[in-house]
Amino acid sequence: MSISDTDLAFEVRPTDTPTPRAERESLLATPKFGTVFTDHMARASWTQGLGWHDRRVEKYGPLQLDPATAVLHYAQEIFEGLKAYRHDDGSVWTFRPTANAERMQRSARRLALPELPTEDFLASITALVRTDLDWVPSGEETSLYLRPFMYASEAFLGVRPSMQAEYLVIASPVGSYFAGGVKPVSIWVSEDYARAGAGGTGAAKCGGNYAASLLPQQEAYARGCEQVCFLDASTGSLLEELGGMNVFVVGADGSVSTPRLSGSILEGVTRSSILTLLAEQGREIRERDIPLTELLAGLRDGSVAEVLACGTAAVVTPIGRLAGGDFDVTVGDGTAGAVTTGIRAALTDIQYGRAADPHGWMHRLA
Ligand SMILES: *Cc1c(COP(=O)(O)O)cnc(C)c1O
Repeated sequence: MSISDTDLAFEVRPTDTPTPRAERESLLATPKFGTVFTDHMARASWTQGLGWHDRRVEKYGPLQLDPATAVLHYAQEIFEGLKAYRHDDGSVWTFRPTANAERMQRSARRLALPELPTEDFLASITALVRTDLDWVPSGEETSLYLRPFMYASEAFLGVRPSMQAEYLVIASPVGSYFAGGVKPVSIWVSEDYARAGAGGTGAAKCGGNYAASLLPQQEAYARGCEQVCFLDASTGSLLEELGGMNVFVVGADGSVSTPRLSGSILEGVTRSSILTLLAEQGREIRERDIPLTELLAGLRDGSVAEVLACGTAAVVTPIGRLAGGDFDVTVGDGTAGAVTTGIRAALTDIQYGRAADPHGWMHRLA
């Protein structure tokens, strides 16, 4: 071994102003996604020629950035999202973290950022969750959302990859995405705007993709829809994904299709896990091109029974309605279907330790 455990360790420098217990407990009672953060953040710095250094866990707080910091000008930034789940016996686990570590490395390559080794990714989330263990909620369907991210931190306006980068992990307690039961969402199909094009950054988890999705998302709201679905940028005819979730189409015959990884679709960990679980149910699974016209025809003639969206934050979300410039169709009877409800339960049962984990997807953090 060339690297010792001490080199890999994230040194914990505890805050001198921890949130008082009563305040923390009231914040944990009704956590709202992405609004409350724990007392600490994990952090490591990278310098060209030196590599990764100064791995630490420190007090959560503002970053001071030089106005010339590269990320503020050229959006050289990537992120990840995963959750820590508290099981009934008090232990804390996460789901397939190696998949997130490896995806972050692929995103880093595309954005010309340094790759963070998988051991460092795992060590950073483990150190942060152990330091802020009291922040992992225990209510039903609650979790601690972990947000690793990396940005170009060199103060330089020239257009070339930054010679410095910062990696951080922040954590936010979250409640059930669907307070009061899983509710189908309505989807606006964006025919004027694309999220990502061929050869672009669609397969990388980078902030810039989200920036491009915000205007179409506003259009969706204006049309009375909650989320937007994008089509492929080249032909404007094939289903791709939502701004932050992958999509599946369930046939009335029980078969399941999802858009194939075209290069402009983000490869979700939830997507991949659902493919595995549905295949084990003996279903016919196809990763393929799905034309919007075929989907609309299938919804009208009943050969498409369910449409669902999936991602770490909301796990599995039924889609109840699809609307666009010249169509507005209800999916089935507009309520969550059996395949959607079943796959959601199968995944969350594994994540919360209520079901066996035959694939070894769960990774203990504390
Ligand atoms: C993160 C993300 C997803 C879902 O990925 P998971 O690993 O399942 O959380 C899907 N699409 C986009 C664009 C994303 O950024």
